[in-house]
Order: sequence, then C-alpha cells, then structure tokens
Amino acid sequence: MTLACDLHMHSCLSPCGDNDMTPANIAGMASLKGLGAAALTDHNTSKNCPAFFKACERMGILPIAGMEMTTAEDIHVIALFPDLEKAMAFDRYVDSRRIRIKNRPDIFGEQRIMDEFDKVLGEEPDLLINALSMDLEEATAKAREYGALAYPAHIDKDANGIIATLGFIPENPKYSCFEFHDRKNAGPYREKYRLGNAKFVFSSDAHYLWDIAEGEEAMRVECPEEASADGKRRAILEAFL
Ligand SMILES: [Zn+2]
Ligand SMILES: [Zn+2]
Repeated sequence: MTLACDLHMHSCLSPCGDNDMTPANIAGMASLKGLGAAALTDHNTSKNCPAFFKACERMGILPIAGMEMTTAEDIHVIALFPDLEKAMAFDRYVDSRRIRIKNRPDIFGEQRIMDEFDKVLGEEPDLLINALSMDLEEATAKAREYGALAYPAHIDKDANGIIATLGFIPENPKYSCFEFHDRKNAGPYREKYRLGNAKFVFSSDAHYLWDIAEGEEAMRVECPEEASADGKRRAILEAFL
C-alpha cells in the first residue's frame, strides 16, 4: 500500500503556528484531506506529540513524532522518530541545549501545550524558534543517536534553508535526503548543488490548517499493509535512507 504523507507541520506550540493548529484539529484536517500519515515537527520541541499521537490514532491517521531543530547556524533540520518514546527522550535532551529567552507572545505568538481534546495543558514560557547550542553536525548526530531520520528542511527557501545560510551543501554531515518547499526546484537543485542520488521530501510546512497537504497531491510512500503502526513508521523513515 502507499500512504499519502505530509511530514512537516507545526502545531500551536510553535509560536508561528496558528492557535487553531491543535493536535486534534490537525488530525481531523489530515483525515479530511485524505492523508494516510502525518508528522508533527514543532520548532525545537516535541511536547505536543503525545496529544498528536492520540488524536491521529482516533482519526485513523498514522502519526509520526518529529521536531524541526534550529541549529547554531540558524539552519532548520527536520528529525523524524521511529516512535513517540524516542522523540520524547530527544525532546528532554534538546531542552538542555536550548538558549533560554523568554517568549514574548505579543511579538512571536503563543506556545500552547495541548491534550488530544483541545484542552490547553500549559504554555511553554521560553521562545522555541531561536537557535539551539548545537551546530549542524552535532544536531544531526544527536538526533540520529535517538534513532531519527534527520535532514535539512526547505533547502530551497531563503529563511533558514541550508543553502541560503551556508551558500552550499557541506560534505559533512552526510544526508540521504533533502526537503523541498517547492517541487519545481527539485530537478534544478539536484544538478546545481550536486545532490547526486539523494532522495527528496516534499512537505507542506503547514502553520495553518488550510496549508496541510491535500492527499491527492501529497508525497506517497510505500508501506507494508500488514505491518504494525511502528512497522509502517519505520518503513516511511527507511524510504528516505
Ligand atoms: Zn523551517
Ligand atoms: Zn517548519
């Protein structure tokens, strides 16, 4: 079977994520749009992933726990985890590598931690989008230690894309895949930046409910039909290795 996947979305815990992007609403919209699998990748946190898992399971969507890290160079890197436990263990580690600046909700937006029924459990007090005290190499290596598939986000975007920030794709760390914001850039970038046979990920980077990918247009990934949810998650991650 193939699953229509959107592997980059922000909930209301990301300061830039709309407050309507609750885990329950994302799961509901993913189902309406005909997605089979969805990953939650908030900035420098996975704390809405437990609620996201429960909400997705209720809607029959395969959930993937993730995070969009901001490296010390200000590059965005996506980490997708094979299970919720590993994501939450990594979340605890990342908490120790954050540079603490109080969030200003009036400027950056609120950072809401939710349950799976749209109840606000709390607010994250410190800003989540600023850089971690880990550079690209360390952030990538650390996420991989926790079992993640890690790769640069939206490499065709000026804001926080690896190419816009460094001017090139470095030799190290090695990446098996790269995420694009716009599919049209994939071919030209493969040639211009010598991406060889790297795989490409096309995701929405949704900050609003209407940004979430339409099932018919979403990236499709092959999955064994008889596999457990963990088996299916593993198959999706392995498809990009
Ligand atoms: Zn980003
Ligand atoms: Zn993002």
